[in-house]
Amino acid sequence: MLDAIIVGYGLAGFHYAWQMKQHQKKFLVIADPLVGASRKAAGICNPTVLKRYTMAWEGKMFLDFALKHYTTIEAELDNPFFHSLPIHRYFFNGIEQNEWLVASQRSGLSSFLNPEIEKTTDKTLKDKAGYGIVEHLGKLDIKSMLNCFKEKEEAKSFWEEVFDYEALKIHEYGVIYKGIKAKSIVFCEGFGLKKNPWFDYLPLVGSKGEYLIIKAPELSRERIVKGAIFIAPIENDLFWIGASFSQKDKTDVPTDLGKDWLIQKLNSILNIPYEVINHEAAVRPTVSDRRPLLGVHPSYSNLYVFNGLGTRGVLMAPKLSQWLYEFVHQRKQFPNEVAIDRFESYFSSPKTKYV
Ligand SMILES: Cc1cc2nc3c(=O)[nH]c(=O)nc-3n(C[C@H](O)[C@H](O)[C@H](O)COP(=O)(O)OP(=O)(O)OC[C@H]3O[C@@H](n4cnc5c(N)ncnc54)[C@H](O)[C@@H]3O)c2cc1C
Repeated sequence: MLDAIIVGYGLAGFHYAWQMKQHQKKFLVIADPLVGASRKAAGICNPTVLKRYTMAWEGKMFLDFALKHYTTIEAELDNPFFHSLPIHRYFFNGIEQNEWLVASQRSGLSSFLNPEIEKTTDKTLKDKAGYGIVEHLGKLDIKSMLNCFKEKEEAKSFWEEVFDYEALKIHEYGVIYKGIKAKSIVFCEGFGLKKNPWFDYLPLVGSKGEYLIIKAPELSRERIVKGAIFIAPIENDLFWIGASFSQKDKTDVPTDLGKDWLIQKLNSILNIPYEVINHEAAVRPTVSDRRPLLGVHPSYSNLYVFNGLGTRGVLMAPKLSQWLYEFVHQRKQFPNEVAIDRFESYFSSPKTKYV
């Protein structure tokens, strides 16, 4: 019997599988390779909220844990996935400069926001009012990390298919899926959770993000630029540009409107010619109260959920995966803020019915 079936292989599925591997537990990952947000994300690991100049919830704690965790993963998989890079926050006027100066003195933020206002010397960017530097963070190459772990694991530990919810049989001692027995099942489906008949009561809102991939050989690869949007280096001369936010359209289909918006924002800061190589979209698994979703099903003790990573999967998934692993295997409690118990009143269903 396996220790767990993991449904989904984005950041949540990867990190939970990693926990299982570290504890010599047997697992099977089932994931539809065609959907998901993780492979489309920029991969920025940032504990600050640069729009409102606040720290993300428990940002420092999540960051400290994530940085150590990614170092371990890099060493064990023998690949550099995490790149320390500053964010250069570009200002459009003096008001933004002042906001930066005030924010850089705030407790928490002061460890990350350098108070100096830098002058733009880089001719590839339009000079408005200089920039500030956000330090001690970086960018994860999510796609490479996911692919590398999968390649190193036995092929039989990964099934590429759409999960058939009707094929799951739930018993008191575990679950059976297409003849595979496991002690538990952990759903890490991102926005796909909406189709999950056991956890669809959870208030996953979803927020669509569109982005561009551009080719711009003259642009520096030594930083992430943040103006109205992010410009983040990927491989070769390619850069990730994004992203938009929409809570109306919940599809992963890119739109002309989204593209026009991205190009307009990009042109407000970029001073060089570029070529648009790709335009894509995905839905972020955001929750009504902006906190992750972790826990066990109210009726079935073998069904778990790991979701709600929102806009900060890179930052939060390492620690959350440890919390969930320890909860499943040692019944250790994690903070109430992330527990799905907070939405128990949303759940209405007949009493537990095992097969
Ligand atoms: C445009 C954009 C940019 C982003 N940039 C960043 C960033 O820079 N930094 C950051 O930290 N976060 C970023 N995010 C957010 C980040 O992508 C998410 O927090 C994170 O990827 C969520 O991971 P997840 O594993 O929960 O979900 P997903 O990555 O969506 O993975 C879900 C998995 O479940 C599988 N699945 C779902 N349903 C089924 C089913 N029925 N059967 C089989 N498989 C199923 C999917 O195939 C997929 O493998 C961004 C998101 C978007 C959209």
